Amino acid sequence: MKDIEVLLNKNELTQQDIVEILSLDNQEDLSILQQKAYNLTTEVIGNKVYYRGIVEFSNICALDCFYCGIRRGNKEVDRYILTEEEIIESCLWCEKMGYGSCVLQAGERQDRKFVDFVEKCIREIKEQSKSEKLPDGLGITLSVGVQSPEVLKRFFDAGAHRYLLRLETTSENLFREIHPRNQSIEERVRCLENLREIGFQVGTGVMLGLPGQKLEDIADDILFIKKLDVDMIGLGPYIPHKDTPMFKKGMMEKDALLQLSLNTIAILRILMKDVNIAATTALQALEFRGREKGIEYGANVIMPNLTPVNVREKYKLYDGKPCTDEAKEDCLRCLQMRVELAKREVGWNDWGDSLHFKNRKRI
Ligand code: SAH
Repeated sequence: MKDIEVLLNKNELTQQDIVEILSLDNQEDLSILQQKAYNLTTEVIGNKVYYRGIVEFSNICALDCFYCGIRRGNKEVDRYILTEEEIIESCLWCEKMGYGSCVLQAGERQDRKFVDFVEKCIREIKEQSKSEKLPDGLGITLSVGVQSPEVLKRFFDAGAHRYLLRLETTSENLFREIHPRNQSIEERVRCLENLREIGFQVGTGVMLGLPGQKLEDIADDILFIKKLDVDMIGLGPYIPHKDTPMFKKGMMEKDALLQLSLNTIAILRILMKDVNIAATTALQALEFRGREKGIEYGANVIMPNLTPVNVREKYKLYDGKPCTDEAKEDCLRCLQMRVELAKREVGWNDWGDSLHFKNRKRI
């Protein structure tokens, strides 16, 4: 057996093992890693890739993360928040197309007006999206940052059942390098624990290729995420935005960064088996076929963009974000083709919940 096969067959991977897999760069070894992750996905989850139509409903943000294009301090951004009608319309379109689930994402705000608004939207989407195909309505995932347990409970009771909150990095030093002092990893971990307790399916992830990030840091991220035992994973490459303080620090070379992201997806699939893993849009910012490659390396979720085209350009977290001028209809066709290219089928009219969550509940 080849060294890489021995490594991938180990029962537990150490930080050093993971570093070794992350740094693979010869085609033969990469192909073994890719095949193992892909086949494991087929075996554990099946052949389907699930869609979650994402509505980036506001770029107003109270935070000032040094990497993010919509940070509060960026005065170049034209701020918007969609109306309740616009949000509902986008989500109902996605229900009609058979997506099964939607994601509501926005900049982070904790004020009452925002919380009331989000709660109302969840309730309306849930109510209005019930159909014969989806008797319980659309599955709703939220991605609106750190919130108090009371607010999270309100969102859950209104009908959201999945929540994404990235840790961004689990290295204390790096976290401090890329965020202002008022944010912390502990706060995010606590929020993830609260979400779990309330009953949400919980997702997290990190950015890869951050300036100063070492492969050891990413290996630690992977082990941390495994230990947290989350249900869903959404991770992606860090890509600079010209109007942010981090821009001048540059970025990793694109091909190496894409491969690093794919290897990270594969390792998490191998370690965590039945979790949902997203092939995120940022992968495609690096290469036209980035998301298909994500699926080939073990991802099983894709998030087509449903944000109305007139504001899409304004939700720019990083430079070169793809599809900012593409109508949702084009997005649908394009993605279906991409899924088929990766030899998977789309799981229509299905929430496509995390098996990891279901399997944990059974214990
Ligand atoms: N405010 C919400 C969601 C919006 S940001 C929240 O905090 O959860 C969604 C994700 O985009 C972030 O978690 C971050 O990982 C990613 N992101 C932000 N800026 C980025 C950049 N420059 N490159 C790559 N990903 C970025």
